[in-house]
Amino acid sequence: MKKMRGFNLVLVLLLIAALTLAGCGQKPAPAPAPAPAPAPAPEPPAAPAKSRLTMASGWVTGVYYPISGAMSRIAYEKMPNISLSVESSGASVANAKLIGTGDADLAILQNDIAYYAFHGEKMFDKPIPNIRGLFMLYPEPCQLVVRKDSGINSPADLKGKRVAVGPLGSGTEANAAQILEAYDIKFDDIKVERLTAQESADFLKDGRIDAAFFTVGIGAAVIADLATTHDIALLTVDDAHAAKLSAKYPFYSKTVIPEGVYKGVPATQTVTVLAMVAARAELHEDVMYDFVKGIFENLNDIHRAHEMGKRVTLDSALDGMPLELHPGAARYFKEKGKM
Ligand code: GLU
Repeated sequence: MKKMRGFNLVLVLLLIAALTLAGCGQKPAPAPAPAPAPAPAPEPPAAPAKSRLTMASGWVTGVYYPISGAMSRIAYEKMPNISLSVESSGASVANAKLIGTGDADLAILQNDIAYYAFHGEKMFDKPIPNIRGLFMLYPEPCQLVVRKDSGINSPADLKGKRVAVGPLGSGTEANAAQILEAYDIKFDDIKVERLTAQESADFLKDGRIDAAFFTVGIGAAVIADLATTHDIALLTVDDAHAAKLSAKYPFYSKTVIPEGVYKGVPATQTVTVLAMVAARAELHEDVMYDFVKGIFENLNDIHRAHEMGKRVTLDSALDGMPLELHPGAARYFKEKGKM
């Protein structure tokens, strides 16, 4: 009997189980799909083992060229992951465009031109949105050179004269136009010559032109050499015209070219802009950090390259910067407590 009762109980339990499954007619709920594993945050692309960079500089007889040559040597000797080849060029305007097209990675250029380039103003028919700042270099005065016996004593006397307004692609040309404008002179009122920097000096020597504009670091070979063989004068941009210029174009400030920089030339007041180094935004942050750090850890080599190199200092590295900094440069200057 005991056995029978146990058997019945098993039957009843089986029956209940069968009824439960069949009666409900429900398929067991499928197990919930496992939640997809969160995608890992994408790793930033690693810096290339070696970056071969090009730097657009300027006139061979200017100051950008020897300064960029020093940077290239520092890279060669002290930056195992960077090589830097330097190319001469018309300078600022051409260099900004080379950054825009990716034909140059780095460039030296004037701060006024860098600003116009980024915003697509003046000589730039469209913005160059990928131009970023690395650091500032030194002042670049607008130097108006004439022969001493030319009878030209002020920019106001340039009307009707043959004037080299700066090489093709230079920033100088923009400065020439703006300075002349302050004196109510248009390019149409002069005989415009577009010569290389060296040609401008040569043409001045033999009287083929009357005046030449050079926006260039003080002591540039192109003017210094000319002054050793010919009597030259620099034209003064006086207070009133300097004020008029900087009111309209805020990148200008007054400066004085000291006596004796050029043989026989007394101290002369003019206006100045600043030279700076820019880079393509697309360059890797780590590479630009290494580059800027490498330069600022070897400033002695920059100081030795040209008198103007001595103006490059960590303290003044961001003064007058018209562009957003490249993240690699920003990282370095933050680390140094400069921003
Ligand atoms: N600032 C000049 C220009 O862009 C170039 C000077 C240089 O090559 O040193 O016109």
